[in-house]
Amino acid sequence: MALIVQKFGGTSVADAERIRKVARRLCAAREAGNDVVAVVSAMGDVTDELLALARQVSQSPPEREMDMLLATGEQVTIALLAMAIHSSGHEAISLTGPQAGILSDASHTKARIQEVRADRVREALAEGRIVIVAGFQAISDEGEITTLGRGGSDTTAVAIASGIEADVCEIYTDVDGVYTADPRVVPTARKIDVVSYEEMLEMAASGARVLQLRSVEFARNHGVVIHVRSSFNDEPGTVVEEAQPGMEQAIISGVTHDTSEAKITIRDLPDRPGVAAEVFGTLAEHNVNVDMIIQNVSEGGRSDISFTTPEEDLARARRAVAEVVEELGAREWSVDESIAKVSLVGAGMKTHPGVAAGMFRALADAGVNLDMISTSAIRISCVIDSADVEKAVRALHAHFGLDASAVTAEVSPGCGGGEE
Ligand code: ADP
Ligand code: ASP
Ligand code: MG
Repeated sequence: MALIVQKFGGTSVADAERIRKVARRLCAAREAGNDVVAVVSAMGDVTDELLALARQVSQSPPEREMDMLLATGEQVTIALLAMAIHSSGHEAISLTGPQAGILSDASHTKARIQEVRADRVREALAEGRIVIVAGFQAISDEGEITTLGRGGSDTTAVAIASGIEADVCEIYTDVDGVYTADPRVVPTARKIDVVSYEEMLEMAASGARVLQLRSVEFARNHGVVIHVRSSFNDEPGTVVEEAQPGMEQAIISGVTHDTSEAKITIRDLPDRPGVAAEVFGTLAEHNVNVDMIIQNVSEGGRSDISFTTPEEDLARARRAVAEVVEELGAREWSVDESIAKVSLVGAGMKTHPGVAAGMFRALADAGVNLDMISTSAIRISCVIDSADVEKAVRALHAHFGLDASAVTAEVSPGCGGGEE
């Protein structure tokens, strides 16, 4: 007998038939003698629809009210799933995030889980019930409802698994696992059997939305092993865990892409100490996340700064930049929303020189122009025109030998390979 957490994403609970199917899966796990906690998302595109509704009534909805609205999505699913389980003869109880003891800080729309007080979940399990928890939502110290950012149900699942010391945390989704690239963009992408926290963090941070970045951070910090798998079959998926010593590390584990960032350029800033501190300090005060940064020194002792930021932070970024441009006397600033970021991720990169050169060559051969470049120990990212993103991802995937057919022909399984 095991204690298991199973999380089901929006597509997996998109309609009544799929909810009944999830109920059958949970009942089967219970009948096999396990204690079962389910974490669920809002049905289908409900979160997007709620966001669109909010925009119809207000140009800048207060974030507190946004959380009140968005949290309703998950609440529909938990109740329906509990009903479906009851009708198949099992005991179930639905709990909102606050009822399940998911406590967060007070930063509305991107709150961080601070603690899980799982007593109520444990009690319900002890009574033999299947416990169904609403993902994505929490409660702050002040008693306010918060949400955890897009994809936040993944983080709820990992936090609950950690809080009740579950044996398994399974993330059921609409693909068979974590792939070497988004399978919707690269049909020849391969499922990865095992991936380290380190690599999954970089993949999630650079656009592989199959797991929310924070869920991977939480899992790494609390030693929760995640199993990402399909809700439409019983095939094993991808295990995300600590890198095993001695395990051969793929040079390239995957190619990721992200079209949800925008680029802001500020031109003709004074070139003196403290200017970058002022620009990025102001952005931080406005709660704007910044990803890539480039500074060019132009003629006459002036400089240009460009940076990328998530589109969801763009309204705040515009306010911050307008302030700073005024203060520092810069000439002008502009926003480019038609950018995309493509990244290569792989732990083996650390010990293989030439990966960056190979990436730039492959993109050049595909006719893709590079706008910005950034690197970490195990990732290289390039900002390009968003019109080129699919072409770029496919070119990199093929160049580094990740295509399914190329792999069986040229590279042994588990080794990403490449021609460097
Ligand atoms: P859920 O609703 O189950 O949380 P998401 O839509 O958040 O599902 O995440 C699953 C999606 O992530 C897939 O449908 C796929 O298109 C996308 N995706 C992007 N990159 C990857 C990748 N490297 N591996 C698997 N899926 C990916
Ligand atoms: N419903 C939320 C979203 O669409 C949370 C989630 O699905 O994980 O982002
Ligand atoms: Mg998701």
